[in-house]
Amino acid sequence: MESREIFWNISQIGWLYALTFIAFLLLFYGCYDHVKFWGTGRKTGGGPPLRLRWKSFLSLALFQRGILKRAYPGIMHLFIFWGIIVLFIGTVLLAIEHDFLKPIFSYSFIRGNFYKVYSFFLDLFGLLAVIGTVMMLMRKYLFPEYRGVRGRPDTLAVWSLFFVLVTGFLVESARIRGTGAEEPFSPIGYVLSALLPRLFDAESLQLFHEVLWWIHLVLALILIAMIPYTKLFHIIAGSFLTLSDPKVKKGILSPVFSEPLRLEPDRLTRLSRLQLLSLAACTQCGRCEEVCPVVSDQSLLSPRRVMDGLRRELQRSNNHLGFLQNGAFLAGFWECLACRLCEEECPISLKVAEKIVDVRRHQVMALSQFPAELRSVFRNVETFGDPFGEGKYAREDWIQGEAVKRRLRNRNGCLVWIGCQSAFHERNKKVAWAFTKLLDVLSIDYFLLGKEEVCCGDLARRTGNEYLFRDSVLKNIDTFRRYGVQKIVTLCPHCFHVMKEEYPHWGGHYEVLHYTELMAEVIQQGKVPFSKSLDKKTVYHDSCYLGRYHDLYREPRSVLNHVLMDGLMEMEKNRGSSVCCGAGGGNFWTRGNTGERINATRLEEVCDKGAQIICTSCPYCLVMFEEAIRNQERQGLVAMDLAELLDLVKPSGTEK
Ligand code: SF4
Ligand code: SF4
Repeated sequence: MESREIFWNISQIGWLYALTFIAFLLLFYGCYDHVKFWGTGRKTGGGPPLRLRWKSFLSLALFQRGILKRAYPGIMHLFIFWGIIVLFIGTVLLAIEHDFLKPIFSYSFIRGNFYKVYSFFLDLFGLLAVIGTVMMLMRKYLFPEYRGVRGRPDTLAVWSLFFVLVTGFLVESARIRGTGAEEPFSPIGYVLSALLPRLFDAESLQLFHEVLWWIHLVLALILIAMIPYTKLFHIIAGSFLTLSDPKVKKGILSPVFSEPLRLEPDRLTRLSRLQLLSLAACTQCGRCEEVCPVVSDQSLLSPRRVMDGLRRELQRSNNHLGFLQNGAFLAGFWECLACRLCEEECPISLKVAEKIVDVRRHQVMALSQFPAELRSVFRNVETFGDPFGEGKYAREDWIQGEAVKRRLRNRNGCLVWIGCQSAFHERNKKVAWAFTKLLDVLSIDYFLLGKEEVCCGDLARRTGNEYLFRDSVLKNIDTFRRYGVQKIVTLCPHCFHVMKEEYPHWGGHYEVLHYTELMAEVIQQGKVPFSKSLDKKTVYHDSCYLGRYHDLYREPRSVLNHVLMDGLMEMEKNRGSSVCCGAGGGNFWTRGNTGERINATRLEEVCDKGAQIICTSCPYCLVMFEEAIRNQERQGLVAMDLAELLDLVKPSGTEK
């Protein structure tokens, strides 16, 4: 019955056990160091159900869904990952049989047909791992911009893996030749055995086999021992992370207050255990850096450097944010747009923006250090309830007609939340006006809070001012309670996100819709016949807070396709890969050149498409695009909100 002698031609097996013991000792010691560091993190209780954790583990860790978004690195990583996993399982099975079952129960199972299948799979996956490793080495040496393998430890690890795999096949081939076994079910070893130089006599073949066997073993053990000290550790950290943090909902910031007046202990000074785990899971592959719209020669921010820098600095400071050094590194945190493009692109969806906001929270709340522009913005929200500093009575200035005035505080139907941008910014006032006219046409019952609205809190939250966020949220929730609010329709995706996902922590549970969802619903019901009469080349820009935060891609498109004669044109970067307009994460208020550079680049994409209208459904995006069009003096192109487009084609004769 087919089988093989496990230590054919190998003497002094005692060394094998001694070296294996040392390698695993180093492995466990290194892992212990990591676990000790994670222990300095804050505990975060609860978490999603087990079913979702396993789903995330299977999808992201085992089937590598995130990495496979890009073909070359995806296939490369998949081959290496599964190659190593199968080879590791094969070695463990061999050890179980040789060291436990045989000596204790005189039982062996790696023989006969099982042995054939076992050998075949080990050869096949070994070959895939070799191909993957060669692909990685080619990337490293042929494409200097590739960041995945950098520095000596990374390079050493990849070359060690390559030689472990190659020596493994050579050892197998020498054994097959030496024993004269017929093993076509070990195809690679079998073919190589035939290719081994005929010059080898029996003695030199045995020497060749023995030397390579020890090289193979030592390299494999070095590789194992290196895991916790190099990037290889992402295999362990990444797997645990996908199990612990399945990212069911996206972009929700964790609370700082456990009760209205009670800050969670260590909340401002330490990252959580999960966050530390995710820093260890980062492979520094640089995909995030490639897509981040802020990254340029002039910018200080790089999401990859954020992950690397935080890990190094926090290891040095024993996870205390107060000891973060390097002013330029910290200044970069204020350039982030909280757009989450990096997270969408990251192979294991690491939450970069969340950590950036945590550092901002420490800067603002513990050290009172933040960009000077924010000082007046915070003061305005605190004093007047809006970042513009216009005050509550100016909130109703955009209202023109009696019909809409009658909607103020009348409690009928759903609440239409106007938001600061649409209430105060001259351009966005027109959108609020168009939308409310539209609601009247559609005979949708709604009411407005007018001067009783205060800022939704998104600005304060993304810039780290949790005191201000808490005050805004509590004021709004109190108002909602007085008016018996159950359903809210927002104009702004930022208000939409915080009210839907972040108010519930404070007891504010509502049905929250963005107005594009409401319009898609109305159109789908077919109650009001909008005409398909808009004859303009139109592109739609996905706002980050609707798209990447909530996967609301279909709704605005279905509305637009309903009214555009020639249908909607898509930009090169659309849906999940849409690029931020440059205003997110508080940058609307602090931006230097960053926002202008980003919206200019995005506008070029629009112009390349030959569009006449760039349509958005976010007041921030609208203002940013208007600015870009003005700055670049683009003729024949206008930025419009989706509500304004609908207002153009609304059924006539129904206006009140
Ligand atoms: S955060 Fe994700 S995408 Fe960025 S370097 Fe780390 S692993 Fe790569
Ligand atoms: S959230 Fe956006 S701006 Fe911030 S680091 Fe990620 S990609 Fe860059």
